[in-house]
Amino acid sequence: MRLLIMGPQGVGKGTQAELLAKHFDIPAISTGDIFRYNLKNSTPLGLEAKKFMNKGLLVPDELTNNIVKDRLAQEDVAKGWILDGYPRNAEQVEALDAILEELGTPLDAAVALTADRPVLMERMTKRAEIEARADDTPEAIAKRLDVYEHETAPILDIYRNRGKLVEVDGVGEIAEISATIISKL
Ligand code: AMP
Repeated sequence: MRLLIMGPQGVGKGTQAELLAKHFDIPAISTGDIFRYNLKNSTPLGLEAKKFMNKGLLVPDELTNNIVKDRLAQEDVAKGWILDGYPRNAEQVEALDAILEELGTPLDAAVALTADRPVLMERMTKRAEIEARADDTPEAIAKRLDVYEHETAPILDIYRNRGKLVEVDGVGEIAEISATIISKL
């Protein structure tokens, strides 16, 4: 199974990606986690990504696309994968299409989780308090939701037009949401 999990920050992408990963016994790959890991370890990639992450902006496509290309070439993803937080704009969709074409591994579905902005702001603010993520300032949270609306939400149509989009309400019980996604897949 090869899946994308999409949706605005705070909608529960990471949680659902982990549950789906367990269910299908495949790795969940989060570009945000890869960037955060590099940031924590002050690698050159982390230091470059930090400039964008702290402002709630997208890390440049070239960097991001290369990370995904390398990750999808690794052995543990041969049986399948879930990409959490990638692609996030039209250029990344094109890059992913090219990567998958080259690997000969077509996508099965793009799962999109939905929720209204006030719900997301509240969830994100709570998470920022609990996890104290360096990239979770109120300004960065609001900016990230704007970036999602302007750059990422439009790409849902690309997958919808390809008949690959599975939309699920992201508000509710975690287990129920997960069961709904699995039944729709
Ligand atoms: P996330 O945990 O997926 O919300 O990602 C946290 C931050 O990492 C984002 O706000 C971006 O700055 C960066 N990031 C994660 N995934 C991508 C991506 N696909 N393209 C560009 N930047 C990304």
